[in-house]
Amino acid sequence: MNASATSFPVSDKKASHYLHWFRRDLRTHDNTALAHAVSQARESQGKVSAVFILTPQQWLEHDMSLVQVDFILRTLAVLQRDLARQFGIKMHILDSSDFVDGVNTLSDFCQSHDITEVTANIEYEVNEVARDELATATLHELGITFERHHDQCILPPDSVTTNDGNMYQVFTPFYKKWQSLLETSPPKLHPLTLLKQKVDADWLTDAQDRLDELSQQVIKDYAIKQNCQTDEALSYCRANYRAGETEAKHRLDQFIADDIKQYDIARDCPADDATSRLSAYLTIGAISSRYCYLQATRALQASPDNGKDISRWISELAWRDFYRHVIANRPDIIKGNAYKTDTDKRVNWAYDEADFKRWCEGKTGVPLVDAAMRYLKETGFMHNRLRMVTAMFLTKDLLIDWRWGERYFMQTLIDGDFASNNGGGQWSASVGTDSAPYFRIMNPFSQAKSHDKNAFFIKTCLPELKSIPSSVLHDEAKLRYALSETGKFAHVDYPLPMVDHKQARQLAIAEFKAE
Ligand code: FAD
Repeated sequence: MNASATSFPVSDKKASHYLHWFRRDLRTHDNTALAHAVSQARESQGKVSAVFILTPQQWLEHDMSLVQVDFILRTLAVLQRDLARQFGIKMHILDSSDFVDGVNTLSDFCQSHDITEVTANIEYEVNEVARDELATATLHELGITFERHHDQCILPPDSVTTNDGNMYQVFTPFYKKWQSLLETSPPKLHPLTLLKQKVDADWLTDAQDRLDELSQQVIKDYAIKQNCQTDEALSYCRANYRAGETEAKHRLDQFIADDIKQYDIARDCPADDATSRLSAYLTIGAISSRYCYLQATRALQASPDNGKDISRWISELAWRDFYRHVIANRPDIIKGNAYKTDTDKRVNWAYDEADFKRWCEGKTGVPLVDAAMRYLKETGFMHNRLRMVTAMFLTKDLLIDWRWGERYFMQTLIDGDFASNNGGGQWSASVGTDSAPYFRIMNPFSQAKSHDKNAFFIKTCLPELKSIPSSVLHDEAKLRYALSETGKFAHVDYPLPMVDHKQARQLAIAEFKAE
């Protein structure tokens, strides 16, 4: 027995053993449930352990991308090391298949390790809620409490409501209320206090070796089963998204010191790459959204001249909260339903596999759409403006069901996040809450002219178009002519636009129009 243990009072009562169950909260800073477990353990002189349960079959069913699975596994390795070395907490990686199997695995672990209380942060999606209900019942049978905390949002669902207590249907009033609540009562961070427990270095070495082996196997199997993403995307993400909360905080610091000052304008220009690129970290919880908000607010106070840019960035964090509040309030949306069910049912969505394939592969003949889709395939990321342009092209120009696009994005994005992806997809298809009006259809050629003026982004992603001037690439009629048999660029290996945007727009408007 070590010295600190001998100083504990002797009691018949079983010492508390808290278990923090990590899910999409892969960090030690400002982790509400983990901080609670640690402070409770300190008070009761108990101890804290942690688990993460791998559920690759469930991830596959949820269309999680290979690059995100890999990012989670890499983050787990860093987290396991940090928890052990800095906080004396062992994080065990449990291997299972789906959520139900995961709960059984958790319950076995709790029994074999004398766990008295399990803590976790709440997830709002339907299967996750069902999993937690099953866990609550299963653990209750064993006399173990399962305590869950709100943690994912800056302000939790149901805390930003109309005066009647209802969820806002539109973002702007939601945002105003969100801001006023935060001004009166800014979020508090949950620092992790130190425990008197230590992890043996040999245990950590063995655990890291096991995790490394397991990760390699999971990635190998997942790549075969998912069959959606290339090795290039995996290599790109490994090189460009270093794992762990230190890296995430470093990115935030850099962004606040630098790019945030031009955010309001530069955010829409993909070639500038001027956004924070924090979404992947926020999605798996490697950084806390409250922490991001507080750091940005501090920057705003320190440099009010950049007020417009910083406020704009904060408003994007509010969009993230908004979409989470939406799914927490309308769980039916998670089952493939649109927010505006009537509009969704009225539209005669197309299910043309060949057209869809051209969209996925970036072979539509529309330069900005193709550049964005190829960028996504190769890097696992797409800029926000381009997500809107490509999703709108799919749902308006091709009239393809938005659910197909939503699924493909989830299968390829490193930041794939149900709430934001579903919200963005429904917004673009004009079937969501506060979505784009059906008659305001983005023209991908004029979008390119405004946001990729010199076609730098287009030409980087589509080198075959390098010789064509941007004035031609940004004009559908000129491009058609230039690529035609008699045109100056007939030799360029690039398809003609697969639809005439003006005609497609008229058809879409007719389709969406109420009778
Ligand atoms: P920044 O511009 O630096 O913004 C900071 C953070 O705010 C982001 O990291 C993100 O967490 C949040 N944010 C920014 N814009 C939005 C938005 N419109 N909605 C919700 N949150 C936002 N975001 C995801 O995180 N995961 C997704 O799967 C996802 N799918 C999308 C699908 C479509 C069709 C659309 C239109 C948008 C989607 N978004 C998604 C939102 C947005 O495109 C990304 O969050 C953003 O591009 C990420 O880049 P960044 O981290 O550099 O963002």
